[in-house]
Amino acid sequence: MKIFSVCTDEITGEIKAAAEAIRAGLLVAFPTETVYGLGADCFNPPALARVFEVKGRPRFDPLIVHIADLDALDRVADIALLDSQGRRHLKLLVRRFWPGPLTLILPKRAAVPDLATSGLPTVAVRLPAHPGARNLIRLSTGAVAAPSANPFGCLSPTRAEHVRNQLGDRVDYILDGGPCTVGVESTVLDLCAGEPRILRPGGVSREDLEALIGPAALDGGKDAAHPRSPGQLKSHYAPRTALSVHLRDEMIALAYEAGEARLFFDAPSRDAWLETFRPPIPEGRVSVLSETGNLAEAAARLFELLHELDGQGASRIRAELVPDAGLGPAINDRLARAAALPAGRQP
Ligand code: AMP
Ligand code: MG
Repeated sequence: MKIFSVCTDEITGEIKAAAEAIRAGLLVAFPTETVYGLGADCFNPPALARVFEVKGRPRFDPLIVHIADLDALDRVADIALLDSQGRRHLKLLVRRFWPGPLTLILPKRAAVPDLATSGLPTVAVRLPAHPGARNLIRLSTGAVAAPSANPFGCLSPTRAEHVRNQLGDRVDYILDGGPCTVGVESTVLDLCAGEPRILRPGGVSREDLEALIGPAALDGGKDAAHPRSPGQLKSHYAPRTALSVHLRDEMIALAYEAGEARLFFDAPSRDAWLETFRPPIPEGRVSVLSETGNLAEAAARLFELLHELDGQGASRIRAELVPDAGLGPAINDRLARAAALPAGRQP
């Protein structure tokens, strides 16, 4: 495995080598503004098969295809198959949110292998904002299938070290672009099923989507055995340490338990708790997503702090749920899934 640094938006020899690796069917982990992706040529079934194998990802969980510019959309999606409302929404959404953390579910072109879409007639497409990611995609095959670069069900990576620690030599290249700025995955929006539906809350808020296109229901994924979007599997994004989620009042009222770690939303709730219990806490066991209660900052730090707390050997992590507006639902969604126990794991 080779690690290259790609902090700038220049086309460097490193980016060219990584793009060549994708062309050759190898796997390249690369930074995006949301989380690090594990990229493979979207038109190369053996390379796609390796993505599933390396992640331990079930084949029924389709991949997001990343493109570098709008011209490439036509190669992977058949827009003519959308109804007129879908086409109108697509136009508005692309103009407003691309490049950015919004994934759109669209009718797929036959050229996209079934392996990328898990046999679905639809394809998930995103145009990321990260300039390094876009250079990589443009210089390779123009369409790179990339799930998050972590083992299936584990915490998503927001730094190159997270990828190295979790996947190591199972990937061929890691491009290091520093910490991800958004920090939670993209919002997945389905434009193929009549009224638009949010299949996964993420980096673009429901409020911002609805201000542009009107109602966009959040698909709750209640039928967990057959989720419409496999990202809705109940246990997902999980640390190894047992994690529980709590409303603010509960978080402040719960006494310190020896060995635990805490993740507060903001400074006021941490301070209220500290004042009540004055607990003898070991260094680094209490973290705050955003001192000032800024949801964008909280999202950007979420996985990073969970990775850190997970590495400390705490007996458990108690995490505070955040306010349910803007990026809040995306953060609470990840926390709730991190708290669900994976199949077979004992409480
Ligand atoms: P990840 O690659 O880990 O960010 O997850 C991608 C998310 O997009 C998963 O929740 C997938 O199930 C979802 N997704 C990808 N393709 C489709 C599709 N064609 N229809 C519905 N959801 C999809
Ligand atoms: Mg993922």
